Amino acid sequence: MKTHKIAVLPGDGIGPEVTDAAVKVLKAAEEKSKTYKLDLVYGEAGFNCIAKYGTNVPPKTIELLKTTEACFKGPMTTPEEADAPPSAALTIRRLFNLYANVRPCFTLPNVPSVKPGIDLIIVRENTEGMYSNIEFELEEGLAVALRVISRNASERVARFAFKLADQRKKHLSYVHKANILRRTDGVFNRAVLNVAKEFPNVQVDDFHIDAMAMELIRKPEDFDVIVTTNLFGDIISDEAAQLVGGLGVAAGANIGEKYAMFEPVHGSAPKMSGQNKANPIAAIFAGKMLLDYVGEKDAALTIEKAVFRVLKEGRVLTYDLGGKARTDEVADEIAGKIGSVKQGQR
Ligand code: NAD
Repeated sequence: MKTHKIAVLPGDGIGPEVTDAAVKVLKAAEEKSKTYKLDLVYGEAGFNCIAKYGTNVPPKTIELLKTTEACFKGPMTTPEEADAPPSAALTIRRLFNLYANVRPCFTLPNVPSVKPGIDLIIVRENTEGMYSNIEFELEEGLAVALRVISRNASERVARFAFKLADQRKKHLSYVHKANILRRTDGVFNRAVLNVAKEFPNVQVDDFHIDAMAMELIRKPEDFDVIVTTNLFGDIISDEAAQLVGGLGVAAGANIGEKYAMFEPVHGSAPKMSGQNKANPIAAIFAGKMLLDYVGEKDAALTIEKAVFRVLKEGRVLTYDLGGKARTDEVADEIAGKIGSVKQGQR
């Protein structure tokens, strides 16, 4: 039997609550499948580590991650002082070169959606752009940030996005602001069009970022795969999450050549921490994406079906979806459905 060694970083705020929920569902799927095992190894990272270790991703956690196939990461609070450590997610993405941030967005049963039939994926370049971490304060009241865009990183993420589009509805939209950011988005756009030659079956179109922000609300059902640079992707993927039910149901993957990290899109929601009321579905979908990545596609689909069934029934939902259920009650309900959903095709 195959064993997948997976690192689990529960994080802080609501992180540990939603991570426990996701682990419960992952364990139920593992038990049903009987064809693989998960070896879950827990590590420390996040805000609480800063006082203890002087960093939010301690060296022993990095060593732990290196021994695993993939990582499940809960949300973590990031301090905003200029000299504070960068976000733990950013550090892990950089260390493991997780260059593609993948955020699926699809209409869910019984969950208010701007339009029916939304099924799109945003692929965001994850290693450079406005998040290159090169900022200077030239003098009091005057600061500069550098937006680094390279052909190599742009082609790498474009190729990832084209491959995905090729397996889906064969439509790729790239998003930029080349009318203003002529040099940086010039590099990005030329890279995308270069890679497009390798995928003649994929229809390609492009949008300015401001137009895309509008189109996502006007006709989201028209999109398949959207690829863009780091900051633009960060913003439109939260917008896209809201189209289909909000942050409580949105998950993301950070994929590199040799490693990947999966996380709910939402943050640590400190005000909700310890109340057992956060929606665990985003974290559960992150777990589902992790199973897909390690090749356990049937188990991943089983989790998706169990979530859909609980949403369809509409009895056990958290506050953000109009219900009164607690985090652990939703997790128990979904885990409980795993045994009775059919494996295989959707
Ligand atoms: P947030 O996602 O924590 O909260 C935004 C809103 O969404 C809040 O109203 C919150 O109550 C709600 N929300 C979030 N998760 C929810 C869930 N599971 N169920 C129901 N409602 C939910 O964003 P924020 O307030 O901007 O950030 C809080 C902290 O989280 C900050 O320190 C930020 O840096 C950090 N953060 C971390 C990550 C990460 O670890 N990947 C991502 C985003 C933000």
